[in-house]
Amino acid sequence: MTPEERKARSRLAQLIGGHGLMRGCLLVRRRKCGKPTCHCAQGEGHESLYVVITEQGRTRQLFVPKDWEPRVRQWVEDHHRARQLMEEVSRIYWDKVRKRQG
Ligand SMILES: [Zn+2]
Repeated sequence: MTPEERKARSRLAQLIGGHGLMRGCLLVRRRKCGKPTCHCAQGEGHESLYVVITEQGRTRQLFVPKDWEPRVRQWVEDHHRARQLMEEVSRIYWDKVRKRQG
């Protein structure tokens, strides 16, 4: 195993064995809460975070409550990183077949 592969695999194992993983994109939307006395009635709306995913061609979005934001951001980021690492490992094996180097 090359040092690159070892590194990618060990980072991947850390991510998978760590906390959560969540596929999706983070989206910040602004919305007005509807209270006429709230500052948002005049200016910009409150920021809320959503996770957006596409499943079987359908887009779904999930509202993330404020106190869940740090966790969800971490899970989404870790999933993204894990996918990149899987790609890296996959590329190594693609080359093995191409070069006939088991
Ligand atoms: Zn408001």
